[in-house]
Amino acid sequence: MDFSLSKEQTMLIQSLQDMGKREKFTELAAEIDRTGEFPHYLMEKYADMGLLGMSLSPEYGGEGEPSLTAILAIETLAKHSPMIAAPIFESNVGPVRVIDMFGTDEQKKSIIPGVCKGELSVSVCMTEPEAGSDLTSLSTTLEEKDGHYVLNGRKSFITGGGMASHYMVYTRFGDVKGYKGIGAVIVEKGAPGFSFGKQEEFMGLRGMPSCDLFFDDVAVPEENIVIRQGDFGNLMLTFDIERCGNAAMCLGIAGGALDFARAYALERKAFGRPICEFQDIQFMIADMAMKIDAARLLVYRAANGAGQGLPSIYEASMGKCFANEMVREVTDKAMQILGGYGYSKEFPIERMLRDSRAWGVAGGTLQMLKVTMASIVFGRRFDQRK
Ligand SMILES: Cc1cc2nc3c(=O)[nH]c(=O)nc-3n(C[C@H](O)[C@H](O)[C@H](O)COP(=O)(O)OP(=O)(O)OC[C@H]3O[C@@H](n4cnc5c(N)ncnc54)[C@H](O)[C@@H]3O)c2cc1C
Repeated sequence: MDFSLSKEQTMLIQSLQDMGKREKFTELAAEIDRTGEFPHYLMEKYADMGLLGMSLSPEYGGEGEPSLTAILAIETLAKHSPMIAAPIFESNVGPVRVIDMFGTDEQKKSIIPGVCKGELSVSVCMTEPEAGSDLTSLSTTLEEKDGHYVLNGRKSFITGGGMASHYMVYTRFGDVKGYKGIGAVIVEKGAPGFSFGKQEEFMGLRGMPSCDLFFDDVAVPEENIVIRQGDFGNLMLTFDIERCGNAAMCLGIAGGALDFARAYALERKAFGRPICEFQDIQFMIADMAMKIDAARLLVYRAANGAGQGLPSIYEASMGKCFANEMVREVTDKAMQILGGYGYSKEFPIERMLRDSRAWGVAGGTLQMLKVTMASIVFGRRFDQRK
């Protein structure tokens, strides 16, 4: 088994670390949290560096890099803030991958080059007010009327809502029940009948747009259908790449918290000694390092196994679930190591702790991931409705 990264991957990590210093990402992360404003100027810089859509197909403007390379970039930038890593996440492991893998040539041509230039972005729209974990009961509907398709429904908690140019909307085709009736269509911002709710106010991830979407008799051209009814499995399989990206955000946040807590413990004195000399502080730091490394191995395994394709559902679920729990524990320990300063907004740990909480809900809750893993371990399906 080879655990080493390629020379290119090592160089990419180094160049992103250098960029972080040059662009003062530590200060930028605090500013984004304070203002709630996403720094749009980053898009051009990332596009120039070839980071946007690096794992998408080269014939449409991507670089054809394996998913692991994008995961490494997300992790490295998320050490500063998940907001700073967000464009790499969206353009490489987000729903644009569904278009890259299953879209038509026209869909790819019209969207992927713009995503790679930072001019377009795609949001994933699954959750509804009455269908979160229970996704297959979603009620947004695409109906065929007089040779046209019409979309009606409401989506909740949509990341990028209001800001993204395109929306990958999971919808029921006609009245076909259960997962068999679910597919996905692309809706463009500005389509008549498509509107946005008020922006959410989350405890963390400030600077990340999120809102409800309303579809009121929105006309959808047939060429905007990406996944037809009957192919719901393809949607879920592609979503496992997004799950690896979610887990990479956790690796980054936790890594940032460990770095900060370690440096603090070397400097801060109590009883006339640096607190790193107290065994309980050492054990907390050792636990943090151990959990991050364990999560990293699981996440890299899932992403590496995917290559340019799809990860195994078992490996992606396990990597995400472990990383989601790990980042909560690591940021909590970091806060303890900083004492009162950990709780103060003068220091980044309270932001990291707030930012850590979302990932075990977004992209599938910890509980639903465990339901999936348990069904694989037992080798049987557990119907949650019975
Ligand atoms: C920051 C953030 C970003 C998000 N971004 C997006 C996005 O871009 N696109 C999108 O579509 N959605 C997005 N979501 C929504 C997210 O996917 C849902 O919140 C999530 O799937 C859970 O759905 P719910 O909130 O309706 O909770 P519910 O499904 O109501 O669950 C409530 C609780 O019950 C538990 N539960 C439910 N069923 C079971 C069961 N069978 N067994 C055990 N426990 C169970 C859940 O684990 C959870 O703890 C985002 C959410 C957050 C917080």
